[in-house]
Amino acid sequence: VAKQRGGNQYQFYAKEQTKLAQSIYHLDIQLRKAIQRHEFFLEFQPIFELQPNGPRIKTIEALIRWKKPKGEIISPATFIPYAEEVGLIVPIGEWVIEHACRTVSQLSKQLKKEIGLSINISPKQFRDQGLSNYISLILHAFDLDPATITLEITESAVFEQEEQALEILQQMKKLGVRIALDDFGVGNSSLFKLKHLPIDDLKIDRAFLTDVPESEADKQIIQTITKTAHILGLSVVVEGVETQAQFDFLQSLGCDQIQGFLLGRPCGIEQIKQLLEESERHETSP
Ligand code: C2E
Ligand code: MG
Ligand code: MG
Ligand code: MG
Repeated sequence: VAKQRGGNQYQFYAKEQTKLAQSIYHLDIQLRKAIQRHEFFLEFQPIFELQPNGPRIKTIEALIRWKKPKGEIISPATFIPYAEEVGLIVPIGEWVIEHACRTVSQLSKQLKKEIGLSINISPKQFRDQGLSNYISLILHAFDLDPATITLEITESAVFEQEEQALEILQQMKKLGVRIALDDFGVGNSSLFKLKHLPIDDLKIDRAFLTDVPESEADKQIIQTITKTAHILGLSVVVEGVETQAQFDFLQSLGCDQIQGFLLGRPCGIEQIKQLLEESERHETSP
């Protein structure tokens, strides 16, 4: 009986495996089609600079979404890892860079004001030989100042084959763009290693903020990372700010920039434009 059951179980397992392989295969094809059919779109989430007279939008982060033909919207957390796996991250990433730069360039011209743009770069894309050339080309094409562009790179991209990663980072710095280390603290990087990297911003992963202000330990961890980052000359960004209590805590710490649902969710560029116009009015009114 056991053998029989084992056999069935194996069959079941094999079936599941095939299904899984098929669904990955389908995802591959769907992603290829999605590029051709222009099914991707971008949302933008504001990143605020904490200033004595209140938070101000400094930069917007481009976040990709995939709208399937039937209208279903797929999160990047689902398809970006697959795109990496099946070798489609470079064309998708190039679409993001071009589209985000075009959009922000237009917005800056409309508002007669420079708006920073943050772009996520995944590990394989980071290693792509053509990346810095492509970025340089696009920045020229849209007449963007490289100093207003931030590339967000995760720890895993930087701390694998570290020497090669350092060369790539230096090449990017030559373009004049900023580099942010995204999701800091959940991978296997250390504060010590940061000392040797040509990075500008440290984005502390939102996992550290979830239990703030209740967790005294988490508060102290954020405080320690912030202090150390400042010693290293880095600007600290905290992501995932959802409550006023978290906001107050981060402000009291002297953290530099924050991002989260409390101040602004990812949204379309029109909504970003409204936000920027509103904050402009606040600044100019007596
Ligand atoms: P990320 O770069 O760390 O982006 C932050 C994610 O946290 C976004 O999810 C954002 O919507 C979400 N978030 C922001 N504020 C809050 C908050 O207060 N609370 C909570 N619960 N969540 C918040 P999203 O848009 O689903 O993106 C997920 C991840 O997918 C990104 O994480 C990034 O790693 C990746 N990704 C997104 N767009 C791109 C892209 O264009 N290229 C690449 N390579 N990766 C991308
Ligand atoms: Mg990011
Ligand atoms: Mg992040
Ligand atoms: Mg994150």
